[in-house]
Amino acid sequence: MTWSGMGGTFFIDATKETEADVRWAGHPQDNAYEVGLEQCAANYAPLTPLSFLERTADAFPDRLAWVYVAETANYSQFRERCRRLASALAKRGVKPGDTVAAMLPNTPPMLEAHYGVPMAGAVLNSINVRLEAQTIAYILDHGEAKVLLTDSGFAPTVQQALSTLENPPCVIDVVDLAEPGERLGEITYDGLLAEGDPSFEPLYPADEWQAIGLNYTSGTTGHPKGVVVHHRGAHLNAVGQALACEMPLHPVYLWTLPMFHCNGWTFTWGVTLQAGTHICLRRVEPGPIYEAIADHGVTHMCGAPIVMNMIANAPDEARRSFAQRVRAMTGGAAPPAAVLQRMAELGIDMMHLYGLTECYGPASVCAWQDEWRVLSADDIATKQARQGVSYPTLEGLDVFDPESMTPIQRNGIEIGEIMLRGNTVMKGYLKNPEATEEAFKSGWYHTGDLAVIHDDGYAEIKDRSKDIIISGGENISSIEVEGALYRHASVLEAAVVARPDKTWGESPCAFVTLKDGEHVTAEDLMAHCRTLLAGFKIPRTVLFGPLPKTSTGKIQKHILRDKAKALPS
Ligand code: ADP
Repeated sequence: MTWSGMGGTFFIDATKETEADVRWAGHPQDNAYEVGLEQCAANYAPLTPLSFLERTADAFPDRLAWVYVAETANYSQFRERCRRLASALAKRGVKPGDTVAAMLPNTPPMLEAHYGVPMAGAVLNSINVRLEAQTIAYILDHGEAKVLLTDSGFAPTVQQALSTLENPPCVIDVVDLAEPGERLGEITYDGLLAEGDPSFEPLYPADEWQAIGLNYTSGTTGHPKGVVVHHRGAHLNAVGQALACEMPLHPVYLWTLPMFHCNGWTFTWGVTLQAGTHICLRRVEPGPIYEAIADHGVTHMCGAPIVMNMIANAPDEARRSFAQRVRAMTGGAAPPAAVLQRMAELGIDMMHLYGLTECYGPASVCAWQDEWRVLSADDIATKQARQGVSYPTLEGLDVFDPESMTPIQRNGIEIGEIMLRGNTVMKGYLKNPEATEEAFKSGWYHTGDLAVIHDDGYAEIKDRSKDIIISGGENISSIEVEGALYRHASVLEAAVVARPDKTWGESPCAFVTLKDGEHVTAEDLMAHCRTLLAGFKIPRTVLFGPLPKTSTGKIQKHILRDKAKALPS
């Protein structure tokens, strides 16, 4: 059913009469609280994270907004640069609703794009810089990017992608002297900012449901899906981050999580909300991380467990001591107990988050409970390895039997699928109504993650029903890797599953049947994949033999998953 309230029609649940139906039936729209008390400019504004920058630049104009090697900008300068960017994009023809893509590392232009692009009313499409040319071309084409901001260090791959496009975007080169590379466009980022008006009036969204970001996720099909996120969700999730991650005013935030990954889990906006300093970092390496923690007094950072692992196991010469305690949020996979303990000894307190691109990054947090203090280190690590409870800004997180859509028992044994609902769930997939409908059926977003719920209400992931492999924090579609293997002339059949990996969490493991009389080695197939796929997607294990099938001929991936798990590490 639907109901009309302030601001429009809202979808609640198509299938059942909810408690809200009953309550609203008893709350007529013409009662005294609804008459003469209208929404107007004075009492209602669409939520947007753009307001965070305005407020912080007004309140703390001289505080450091970002630091990158020897360059810095205070909040007044940061706002001015973002306004220039928005104005220059508008002058070059970017209109509200247009897509501006960014192929950038964690440098200031990427941060500025998170404000300057939506200030022009446009939608920011952040591209994973580790992708291969073919997928980048697909994303630019599918997202219909009008402009591409690209770091000149990535020129060879980007040029290859652009060369295949019928309607290539206008290219703006971000030239970083750290890795100058090659120029592809007609103007540099600095040249573009010079064209812009520093007093440009930002175009705030007329409706908070307007898109702010387009983030492609490998999903479960060969082609990535374009997750569309809106201003309201970005605002709320950023507020949720500050609350759930206990990030008080003036954090010093180190950019070890790629900003292209769900807009840096919305910390791009959340750190600005709290008038913090963004410490930009081009490469995630132990030396510069320790240096930043020691020299800039970093208080918060995020990253996949592999990044935390790298910090915990850094070589002695890369380490620096620091006085403050650091809070590090990790997600994408559960953090191993050893990493949690080692990090705590180093002065870094870990927090475990869980989420997906479809919900702006983290949706749940393994919130700390004071009673855990008396537990042994091992027991604390076991508690903290769970994915936890909902963010305060999400309406619902539950684990259901996906068929009956009924909650599973909270006994830590029964397994169901994690479902999410609320204002920090995506608008849907761009130009893909079938996938959107499928993802939202029965009024919940179906995550494809299989979990138990413990008696304290904390969820713990046990498996996945979707065909993805998560290696070093990056999602890999097994179907895409299979597609690459099938393009080898000697391959008859291929199936790719996740193999547990000490370093990467998981790695792609391929099971291959060759055509009669063909002889190729595992190395041959890996080399073949290298010509088609980004490095992180190449199978690290290739095993030959017949594939287990059902009576209808479907490959039984669960058997292969078990085989991959049983391989010696
Ligand atoms: P993220 O930035 O959270 O990795 P993606 O959309 O790339 O976002 O990947 C989402 C998937 O990653 C989830 O569906 C889940 O399978 C996995 N994932 C995310 N966080 C965790 C976690 N804390 N523990 C286990 N798996 C996780």
